[in-house]
Amino acid sequence: MIKPIYSPDQERYNNGMKYRRCGKSGILLPEISLGLWHNFGDVDPLSRSFEIAHHAFDHGITHFDLANNYGPSYGSAEETFGCIMKKSFAPYRDELFISSKAGYDMWPGPYGNWGSRKYLMASLHQSLKRMNLEYVDLFYSHRFDPETPLEETLQALVDMVRQGKALYIGISRWPYEAMKTAYQYLSERDVPCLIYQGCYNLFRREPEEEGILKQAKENGYGFISFSPLAQGLLTDRYLNGIPEDSRIAHGGHLKKESLTETTLKRIQALNAIAQRRGQTLAEMALAWILKDDYVTSVIVGASSTTQLDKNLKALESPAFTQEELEEIERACNI
Ligand code: NDP
Repeated sequence: MIKPIYSPDQERYNNGMKYRRCGKSGILLPEISLGLWHNFGDVDPLSRSFEIAHHAFDHGITHFDLANNYGPSYGSAEETFGCIMKKSFAPYRDELFISSKAGYDMWPGPYGNWGSRKYLMASLHQSLKRMNLEYVDLFYSHRFDPETPLEETLQALVDMVRQGKALYIGISRWPYEAMKTAYQYLSERDVPCLIYQGCYNLFRREPEEEGILKQAKENGYGFISFSPLAQGLLTDRYLNGIPEDSRIAHGGHLKKESLTETTLKRIQALNAIAQRRGQTLAEMALAWILKDDYVTSVIVGASSTTQLDKNLKALESPAFTQEELEEIERACNI
């Protein structure tokens, strides 16, 4: 049953959450943010979605990350979040930092995908309606569009801020060179990029290798990591096979083929290191991303409050020794 009136935990800012400054901006983000890509669609039990969102806010998670097409079905995660806003979070709107994005396929025809001004503006209007919001705190270009002039995409983002429909602008998954143009264009218009969103975890090092992390730090915008647990691979979820209720079993974006023999060996080796450190693999994987100040926050997904609790424990993680870091590298390269 959905409780009609939600009273957040009075101690929500004393429950261990830490906040990091996002680049050189005025914004502080929780080290752990919650993503609604999965588990908040119209295929998921609404009561569980409410429960996870409440639990997050009760533990100091102020940042909720969405996109137009999260679900399934497309749009339904924003609709679920809209219900949560209406029934639970409305009195706390100013304590929340809510993001959405557009860039991937959303509706049929030539205007429902990629990076045109037409698509981005229409999508933001739809997102605001679905989420019962007057503005989003952060709006992202969800991906780089090689066929739309970058200036068109970037100017649409600038105009969203000018119109008061978004407070800040972010960029997700743009390559290094395009990001240079984006940084310059946005800065010159006094709408600096707040944050870059990219996939960074023990198994995915591209933001480090391609200079994206360094670029963000040098230019004064934050970096937020999506899929920090590699969609669940960097946890104990698949150590003993594929559970029926897991993301792989659901047959979504995480394919059975991702769980190769080598990957399983790496997971086992990392799990052994985590155990020796007295923590779960999920805790260690998140703590590893947050170990230095290149990263502002990690956006975790969770299909239960138990998982979320386990992930929040990363905030209590002991520091890594040099030997542990080297051992982790060896485990990731088995
Ligand atoms: P994670 O890597 O955190 O994976 C989350 C999944 O891992 C959960 O749904 C659950 O899967 C499993 N899991 C989580 N915690 C535990 C635990 N403690 N023990 C065992 N299993 C666990 O993140 P996501 O891939 O969900 O991505 C997070 C967010 O990042 C998204 O919601 C979205 O906001 C953002 N994102 C952005 C993208 C972009 O293009 N900008 C792309 C992808 C994501 P299970 O269902 O098996 O229980």
